Amino acid sequence: MAAFVTAWSQPGPTPRRVRVVEFGFLDGRPDPTPLFDGTPEEARVLFNAEALDVLSTAVDGGEYSPGRACRSCRFTAVCPAVPKIGGLLGVQARDRPLRTWSPTSARSYRECPARSYLRASMLPVDEAVERNASAERGRAVHDYLAACHKTVPHNACGLVVPDVWLGNYALADDQHVLGSELLRFHAEVCPMLYVESSEDVRVEPSLVYLDEEASSRVLVQPDLLYRDGDSWVWREVKTSARRRRFQDLLWDYPQLALGLELLGRGALDGSPARSRVELEVLRPGGADLITLDPFSPGTRQAARDVVRRLVAPWREDDLFIATPGAHCSACEVARWCPSRQQCDAISGDAR
Ligand code: SF4
Repeated sequence: MAAFVTAWSQPGPTPRRVRVVEFGFLDGRPDPTPLFDGTPEEARVLFNAEALDVLSTAVDGGEYSPGRACRSCRFTAVCPAVPKIGGLLGVQARDRPLRTWSPTSARSYRECPARSYLRASMLPVDEAVERNASAERGRAVHDYLAACHKTVPHNACGLVVPDVWLGNYALADDQHVLGSELLRFHAEVCPMLYVESSEDVRVEPSLVYLDEEASSRVLVQPDLLYRDGDSWVWREVKTSARRRRFQDLLWDYPQLALGLELLGRGALDGSPARSRVELEVLRPGGADLITLDPFSPGTRQAARDVVRRLVAPWREDDLFIATPGAHCSACEVARWCPSRQQCDAISGDAR
């Protein structure tokens, strides 16, 4: 498309040669292999073959698809696909500009406001930090499970895990072995054991809500929603290289707290009878399944408190000041950080 537009845009004149080149955002250098290098006529042929149909489909699309795109959409307030749940985040900020909150960004903000701001600004992250060994193993396991759970007709996961489960992930041998072991343990607690039809499963659905009282869009992506009878169950899966003891489960994993709030408010429809949030922890030696009841007053209050504690300082913040500390050594946006020198001094890291 870029080659075609460059070649044939008015007012001309038509160039003799067109090149489309990628430049690295970090080093400002061009990729030695151009994406396109040819004549305007070659650009037209390629456009007709590769881009025309895709472009037509894109502009003909008439469906709403709530998700990441909602972050920067100015029509959220009137969008029929985004449900309004006043009070979901538990803070009052009607007079503040609209912002987007998610449990993932909340964890980042909790550690360092600047980090969540830099991430939200879509700056390139340090891949070596972002893709560390355990994070990559977790992603590989998640992706494999998501693909299995999407299979139609649906099947519960079995004890036999194929060697090719890694897909495009390149894991070290020890992570590969651990991942395979964790996947075998998943078979014991696979939610598909309870599902009657493929329509009763939503794998990694993008959920978007608008809390007008907090002037905030709320984005969350459960690992899985499945129906037990006519009730929705929210399942999160975590992988761990060791057995973990949780001090404060909802604080550690804010998406559980938000899941409890949403189910407790009936945001997902269905009957409340068997509605619940589940945390599946896959670790060496077995799988733990922790169940949380959105209709238990104590659990619900704890969930509400966690969400409010996370949202209140973020909603009031206009400066997103960096808070250097030990966590800087695992910060994927450190290269953009205004306090980077201080961070390096703290972590003794010559990054
Ligand atoms: S390097 Fe440290 S202070 Fe800077 S954004 Fe990252 S976590 Fe925050």
